[in-house]
Amino acid sequence: MTGEQKPKPGRARTGNRRLAEKVAELIENDIIENGVQIGSVLGSETDLIERYGVSRAVFREAVRLVEHQQIASMRPGPGGGLVVTEPDPGVVRNAARVYLRHVAVSRQNLFEARMALELAAIAAAADKLTESGITVLKDALRVEAELIEQGVARGHARNLHRVIAELAGNAAITLFVEVLAQLDEDFVQREWGAPEADGEGHLDAARESHEAHEAIVAAIVAGDGSLGQYRMRRHLQAIAALLEQDA
Ligand SMILES: [Zn+2]
Repeated sequence: MTGEQKPKPGRARTGNRRLAEKVAELIENDIIENGVQIGSVLGSETDLIERYGVSRAVFREAVRLVEHQQIASMRPGPGGGLVVTEPDPGVVRNAARVYLRHVAVSRQNLFEARMALELAAIAAAADKLTESGITVLKDALRVEAELIEQGVARGHARNLHRVIAELAGNAAITLFVEVLAQLDEDFVQREWGAPEADGEGHLDAARESHEAHEAIVAAIVAGDGSLGQYRMRRHLQAIAALLEQDA
């Protein structure tokens, strides 16, 4: 041992960072557990530094974290303080997408996760279907048909699948269906290339998908969740097979 060890600045920073993460978590819990409304002030900087018992530097780091996560943001000036903000699902989707790309999620893993979620969505959508839900589904099909008519093959992954997920009335399913559908579309873009994404081959694929969508919607509208699931499974398998063949 070489006598007294000075704390390394790097280590101190890591410690502060951890503490800041902890405080950010406490802030999040305080907002959720106390049902604090969006737009209300959680407290001034001075109040909150005292409440959480940390240094100003650590508190400010925690604020940066909650601001980044769109939980709350610091409003300066008199009457200001840490204000509760509304989380944007787009930010969450984007972060999840960045993460999954970073860990190099495979198409196969993506496919399995997407299948599980979409089948769950179909069952719930068929179960909870209302008249307005039927209208929403039929509108989505009509828009899709119009786009294909105009020669647009892109955007397949985000329309009908999202609508079905929304009808399932489960925010967790909706969020992750969108993340996975978007990632799947990223794969398509990379493998097929964006410039000719509206080419004839892709339009054929879009027409085929549209037919599958019509059949899926028909099953949901008939309240037959298992038939809808069967058709969704076939549809997702067909898309996967198409991409395999093309890759
Ligand atoms: Zn589809």
